[in-house]
Amino acid sequence: AKRRGRNTCQWYTEDLNRKVSERVSLRNALQQAIEQEQFELYFQPQMHGLSGRVIGVEALIRWHHPERGFIPPGDFIGLAEDTGQIIPVSDWVLATACRVAKQLNALGHGPITMAVNVSPMHFQRPGFLKAIEQVLEESGLAPHLLELELTEGVLMDSAEQAIQALQGLRQLGVHVALDDFGTGFSSLSYLKRLPINRIKIDRSFVRDVITDRHDAAIIDGVVAMAGKMGLEVLVEGVETAEQFGYLAQRRCDYFQGYYFARPMPLSDLRAFLASPPAI
Ligand code: C2E
Ligand code: CA
Ligand code: CA
Ligand code: CA
Repeated sequence: AKRRGRNTCQWYTEDLNRKVSERVSLRNALQQAIEQEQFELYFQPQMHGLSGRVIGVEALIRWHHPERGFIPPGDFIGLAEDTGQIIPVSDWVLATACRVAKQLNALGHGPITMAVNVSPMHFQRPGFLKAIEQVLEESGLAPHLLELELTEGVLMDSAEQAIQALQGLRQLGVHVALDDFGTGFSSLSYLKRLPINRIKIDRSFVRDVITDRHDAAIIDGVVAMAGKMGLEVLVEGVETAEQFGYLAQRRCDYFQGYYFARPMPLSDLRAFLASPPAI
């Protein structure tokens, strides 16, 4: 038993060492990615249910590593937050997204909001508002066409500061959506104090919504509350016609998910906008 214990321990140490060195090499690779711009933005359409119109797109980062190939954001955003590399990455995302949004809105398909994910470190950095103001000025994008997606956690970390920053964004005319809603722990009384525009209901409530009465009840509650507070509701992760139909009946207005479209490169998005599918 003793020998086995030692082996287990040794195995564990090797495993740990491997993880640490993987993180170090990922960090170095990320540094190269920043310098060589190995990133690309994909865009996922956001739909208005009743009209079937594309009202916006969410920018989602993709990393094309020259040897390792495609690395999904879930595998490097967390690390980039730990190392601070998220700052240059976020700057690139924002500038690129605003530039694309300006182009898309010149195509005559109607107003299209650009939703950009904002990491906690980026949002809490002094000078964040200035940076937003600057990127809008450089791109020429109208402020109301930029929507920043923030998670509950970001806003709860330092509530007073967060509320101030949100008020600053509101003064600029930039929109804010609360991302992954329902997965954090923000209380409704806290939510009431947040100057935001939209709630994005997390996809974990959508998966079983047709069979799980609790999920349906939660969605009903959020829709009712949001309506009273003058907030829009967008449901994420809608994958089937059945889910869409069910949620539309429950008076959700805006939708995003594989059922409508997957995240796609800019060239595909242009084609999608030119002839969106009937939903
Ligand atoms: P998120 O902000 O919640 O983005 C939605 C994720 O759900 C995306 O994954 C999207 O591809 C996926 N998704 C969309 N529709 C469906 C669906 O119908 N079913 C399922 N199963 N999934 C769906 P992705 O692109 O891998 O991004 C993962 C996370 O990485 C994002 O979650 C976001 O937190 C983060 N992220 C992505 N891009 C950026 C970025 O530019 N900056 C920052 N800070 N974070 C980013
Ligand atoms: Ca998001
Ligand atoms: Ca989300
Ligand atoms: Ca998420």
